[in-house]
Amino acid sequence: MGKFPIADAALSQVWICKRCKARNHAGVEMCRKCHSRYLRPKRKDIKTKK
Ligand SMILES: [Zn+2]
Repeated sequence: MGKFPIADAALSQVWICKRCKARNHAGVEMCRKCHSRYLRPKRKDIKTKK
């Protein structure tokens, strides 16, 4: 979790296409851009500076 709960919630609903790296909403069957099915959830544990 990061500093901003709203941003965390938004990021948790973002999936990234492995093929063209387009942002897709969670739950979509395929990429909206290239129609690829290779999607991954966006990383939520982004390292932050202390
Ligand atoms: Zn794509």
